[in-house]
Amino acid sequence: MQTNLKTDISIKAICEGFVYNELEGKGLFGLSGKLTIQPEYQRNYIYAEGGGKREAAVIESVLKGYPLGLIYFNKINDNAFEVLDGQQRITSIGRFVSDKFAIQDADGLQQYFTGMAADKRDLILGTKLLVYECEGTESEIKEWFRTINIAGVPLNEQELLNAVYSGPFVTLAKEVFSNSQNASISKWSAYVKGAAIRQDYLACALDWVSKGDVGGYMSQHRHDKNIIQLSLHFNDVINWVSSVFTDVESEMRGLEWGRLYEEYHRKPYNAKAVSDELQKLYGDAYVKNRRGVFEYILGGSTDTKLLEIRVFDEATKKTVYATQTKKASTKKESNCPLCALGHDANKQKIWSLSDMDADHVSAWSKGGSTHIKNCQMLCKTHNRVKGNR
Ligand SMILES: [Zn+2]
Repeated sequence: MQTNLKTDISIKAICEGFVYNELEGKGLFGLSGKLTIQPEYQRNYIYAEGGGKREAAVIESVLKGYPLGLIYFNKINDNAFEVLDGQQRITSIGRFVSDKFAIQDADGLQQYFTGMAADKRDLILGTKLLVYECEGTESEIKEWFRTINIAGVPLNEQELLNAVYSGPFVTLAKEVFSNSQNASISKWSAYVKGAAIRQDYLACALDWVSKGDVGGYMSQHRHDKNIIQLSLHFNDVINWVSSVFTDVESEMRGLEWGRLYEEYHRKPYNAKAVSDELQKLYGDAYVKNRRGVFEYILGGSTDTKLLEIRVFDEATKKTVYATQTKKASTKKESNCPLCALGHDANKQKIWSLSDMDADHVSAWSKGGSTHIKNCQMLCKTHNRVKGNR
């Protein structure tokens, strides 16, 4: 790969013909149309997120004469360049120069570019950027892009995959799943965690359709000119979840709905009964893990491990142990009530506290509570036997 350092490219030249696409949230072109600011393998513009502190900081740096760092262009030919690294900074500058956002001046007033004093405008436009022009094969450039990590916000895994498997499929998929203007995102956000702009929805859709093999799926579909399968599957999962669970609870966000769909979507559910069960479990103080409630219900309300039912605390166990042991000693029988009923050597055995476990006399799953009145101590063997029933 050949590189050539340019020190004479000014902000004025870069911003010539700058186009920002509000809908897709990206800077598109600069350098009088010769520069593609956001090639399809680049991530979306994120410097405007979080109140725009990052994009304002870029402008402050220019005004103070601080270096903006290296910018990398991929040179396709003398009249065509793509931004390999520096897209966020260039988009910030282009957006400022075209009055898309204001910075605060020393008096705390909003200052748009066209409203600035002429000398400040000239200072900005005259600032030269340090640009490395790189020439190489597509795979050289992409491999290199995968390894650089010099931008302010590191690329996450899905952004890297988008770069590596760039092509029509990724472009189409990003239009749907990485576009915060997509009205469906707010519906999806009940079930999917993260931010569309950081590719979390795309990562989720790919994970679901590929059953976990995202890289393999992207490689296989890289040159597809449609995303029908990806979209259909994602919508199938979302529609299934929202029809089984008519309640929307915050704990539903980010659950493994793709896996749950594979396991349970062929089973019939009664939405009303599911809702009643869900509300009952949400109201149960002994259910520690609300995120487990959904899989518990889907699986037929049997796997109580998913709910992490609160157990009896140490003080309760000690109290019950003392009472049981005292009573058993007087009667000359085992302090494990189940051993006492038996006919073997343990019939009269007094177990130590460490050899016993607390048991719900009336099982939690049958309505028994985790209250001292419902606690009995059993020897470990009997507790295991009872627990497995
Ligand atoms: Zn026993």
